[in-house]
Parts: sequence; structure tokens; C-alpha cells
Amino acid sequence: MTVKPVIKGVHIVPMGFANAFLIEGDDGLTLIDAGYPGKEAVVFGAIRGLGRSPDQIKHLIFTHGHPDHIGSAAAIVRETGARTYMHPLDIPMAESGGPFRPMTPAPGLLGRVLCNLFFHPDERLEPVAIDQPLTPGETLPIAGGFDVIHVRGHCAGQVALLWRPRRMLFAADVCTNIMGLGDPVGFENLEEGRVSQRKLASRSFDAAGFGHGKPITRDASTRFRNKYGKHPEEVHQLRSAA
Ligand SMILES: [Zn+2]
Ligand SMILES: [Zn+2]
Repeated sequence: MTVKPVIKGVHIVPMGFANAFLIEGDDGLTLIDAGYPGKEAVVFGAIRGLGRSPDQIKHLIFTHGHPDHIGSAAAIVRETGARTYMHPLDIPMAESGGPFRPMTPAPGLLGRVLCNLFFHPDERLEPVAIDQPLTPGETLPIAGGFDVIHVRGHCAGQVALLWRPRRMLFAADVCTNIMGLGDPVGFENLEEGRVSQRKLASRSFDAAGFGHGKPITRDASTRFRNKYGKHPEEVHQLRSAA
């Protein structure tokens, strides 16, 4: 299959309604998220499309533990032996394979419809073991460096990842980019979700990828600032709290 580069070194892997991302580094391939169940062949096809082989996936970093982000993880790890990473608060969901913490639909009719359609807390998946818990504020020494930013609200153990070499933010489900920047289907805690949206708007980056919707290839932090930005003093406070 042909894979689409978002920016140099980053490829989007469509996993149904959800996205995964493949990053080419000097230390092998890194996969961010693992889509819905049964999508491992899409990932392996994407890797072969790059002229590489699945066993070159060395790292599998999860933005959070929802079924649409960990669904094919067990199958991918079995085939590749990739090392797995996740925030400690979500590890129990991944390692049990469900049930999942409930969410409240995002404000508005669309949120209610999509949340019921796409999120089933009682779903059961094949469990996946997590090798390394992520620490908020750390920079993972993978593919040139990923800053780990804790962005709770949609999901307590959610992280966004800022890839340093080409300043691309992986925003997870803090927001979607389906018809412009917008809310995820639901929140465990709406207030915290709003704080996380502002927190990302206070960072500087060029490109952005989302769990759901189209990536942005340039000036992405301007789009975030226009949608979620706050006064400079407040931005400063959010930065200090990061
Ligand atoms: Zn999610
Ligand atoms: Zn999602």
C-alpha cells in the first residue's frame, strides 16, 4: 500500500476512523498509536510501502489507552517485538484489555451521536503489556526526541507528543481536525479537557497530527492559538504548570 507522508519522516497510517503515525528515525521506526482491532495488516503494509520491514518498528508509543488507539497493539507487538510506552494512569486499561473508563459525550448533538457510535466502555480487547510508563515533562530519547505533555480531560492518562526534530505535535484526542479544530467525541472531565486544549495552544510547533481528522502541515500552533489561545499571562502560567 502507498503511505502518505505528512512531513518529511512522518507518515499517516489510516486505521479506519482513527489515525496512527509512523516516524522514521535513525534508531528505526516508531509507531504512535495502534488504531482499532484487526488493523495490524494496514500498519505492516504501510511499512513495506516504505521499503522496510515490520521488525524495524522499535517503539510503539500510545497517546492514551482507548480502544481506537490500542486496538491492534497486541498483534503488532507480537510481530515486531516493539517496546511499548504509555502514561501510568492508562496502563491498567491496556493491560486488562478493558473495560474502559466511561466518558461523557462532548457538548452538542454531534458529540452525543459520535460518542455513542464510536466509544463502548464495555469493549474487550486483547491486552497489551506496557514496557515503560511515560513521565510528563520528560523527553523520550527516541527518533531525535519526543517531549511528553500530559493532557488529561478526554482521558486521564492521555499525553501529547512533540517531536523535536521537525516540530510536529501529536495532539492525540485533545482535539480533532475533522471540520477544523474541534472537540473529541467525549470527555472524562470537560474542564480538564479545556485546560489541555489551552495548554497545547501555549506551545510552539509547525505541524500537528490528530487521533481523528486531517494533519496540519504548517503553522499549526497558530491555528491552535486562534482556537484555544489565551492572554500571555495565562499562557505563562500554563507553561509553568507543564
Ligand atoms: Zn480517545
Ligand atoms: Zn480516539
